[in-house]
Amino acid sequence: MTISIQGISVSRGIAIGRVHCIKRDQIDTPEYLIRKTQIDSEILRLDNAITKARKELRAIRDHIPSSTSINISEFINTHLLMLEDNALTEEPKKIIKDRLCNAEWALKLQRDALVNVFDEMADAYLSTRKDDVGHVVNRILRILLKQKPLLDELPDEHLRGKVIAADDLTPADTVLMKHYGIAAFATEFGGSTSHTAILARNLRIPAVVGLHSAKKLIKNDDLVILDGGSGIVLVNPDKTVLSYYIKKQNEVKKYYSSLEKLKDSPARSIDGIPITLMANIELPEDFETVRDIGASGVGLYRTEFLYMNRNNPPDEEEHFQTYIKVIEALRGLPLTIRTVDLGADKEVDGVGRQTSNIRSNPALGLRAVRLCLKEPEFFRPQLRAILRASAHGPIRIMIPMLTNTQEMQQVLFIIDDLKLELKNKLIKFDQEIKVGGMIEVPASAICADIFADKLDFLSIGTNDLIQYTMAIDRINDEVNYLYDPLHPAVLRLIQATIVAGQKANIPISMCGEMAGEKEYTPLLLGLGLREFSMHPATLLEVKEIINKTNINELVELTKKALMVDGNY
Ligand code: PEP
Ligand code: MG
Repeated sequence: MTISIQGISVSRGIAIGRVHCIKRDQIDTPEYLIRKTQIDSEILRLDNAITKARKELRAIRDHIPSSTSINISEFINTHLLMLEDNALTEEPKKIIKDRLCNAEWALKLQRDALVNVFDEMADAYLSTRKDDVGHVVNRILRILLKQKPLLDELPDEHLRGKVIAADDLTPADTVLMKHYGIAAFATEFGGSTSHTAILARNLRIPAVVGLHSAKKLIKNDDLVILDGGSGIVLVNPDKTVLSYYIKKQNEVKKYYSSLEKLKDSPARSIDGIPITLMANIELPEDFETVRDIGASGVGLYRTEFLYMNRNNPPDEEEHFQTYIKVIEALRGLPLTIRTVDLGADKEVDGVGRQTSNIRSNPALGLRAVRLCLKEPEFFRPQLRAILRASAHGPIRIMIPMLTNTQEMQQVLFIIDDLKLELKNKLIKFDQEIKVGGMIEVPASAICADIFADKLDFLSIGTNDLIQYTMAIDRINDEVNYLYDPLHPAVLRLIQATIVAGQKANIPISMCGEMAGEKEYTPLLLGLGLREFSMHPATLLEVKEIINKTNINELVELTKKALMVDGNY
């Protein structure tokens, strides 16, 4: 019998495949005594498991495509080094001998001892190494216990074509999925604008989140159909259902290939209004797609993905080299680099760890520009690299999460200071580089005119704007029903921002997910939006709608949407 589970749709597309379940629970470590005569065989078991763990890690490292700038190799190398360290290879053996216990228990005791040492370290970087110790020990434990490895511990060929079922996934997991050729993923938790969801859309991985009953109903190796558009997961479908979805899968493919013809034509409404369609990019594999899809440039380059799956933040040179790669791929198209937006759900090792994510409301805490101003030692190298790169192609700087004018002034001051530094050292940069801000906080949308007076452009980040306007955590599926881009409060804030931009005569764009959802396109056009930035995967769908829309006819209808109606 086919079981149907309804979740939240986050990334369109139909996938049909076998399930691979990921559980992030603590491993149940068995404890038992061994006889003296068993010491040697227990030590041999540990040695074999460590050797196997090394092999697995090398296999993963060898399969990472050289095109990726996300330093997965560095993170794997750290784990390999730990597997050579006496603390993990020799100390547990002593414990086996001294306590006459099994290898798993000896390893657990040694891990606890190491974690305690790391916990006592004041240094943020070193204290985060305890996570690595945990990952490495878990890998060995799973081998000893003959358990299936987690996603990041599997060589890629095991996952090709699989549908991942998990409690929750991080953005970093999603990056790995792409490399592993995973067909789709389904999670118990998560919201539609979480970064994991955004990344899934960008990478065109069909995905459904918020499937609360999934754990009970989906098992390893079950055949599932995941319909990312409707948020439905069908477990062990019967023949009729399966053939219906195979047909639907083909229709979806046909629809996308029918859009290809729009790539080279401009976006223009029926009444002749030209619209600019830009792309949001994150990963190196997106760089080429901007031109391929016919976008007019990049309206949002999320640089935080440079910080993921690695142990320390990128330095100025790495930032610079990456931006040069993007500039080269864009061949003259404008690039808007958003300075790093870490914190909240975009957590990485080694940055802001002590301060931001241990607080109870990370989304309201130290993230994005707030974190950058608090930790200028990692903000300045990025800004300096952007300035240097601006000598090589058209670049704009975009600041996320501006909330008050002091933040804006502080950032502008740092940029001026860096410009002076570069000038004194005779290093080239674009002296007229444009600096803009993201309107993502209701306070800044209400005061958009103040920001518009001082900045060169504004971009509306609806993912956060909706989160903060509706007081909902964007990664919490339980309040996802309140994620409503059509709430008059949200629409009025968008409109206020567009009007402020028009008055100040500066470009206004939207780069939140709402910009790439074609059902909102006519409304946004009616509100006066003329520049959209979205993940390349949806650009042609939006273009198709624009080309069929008469904007003048929408003005009256749009006014109605701004009024409080029966739903509110
Ligand atoms: C937004 O908040 O709408 C946005 C584009 O930024 P991010 O999703 O990266 O927070
Ligand atoms: Mg945002």
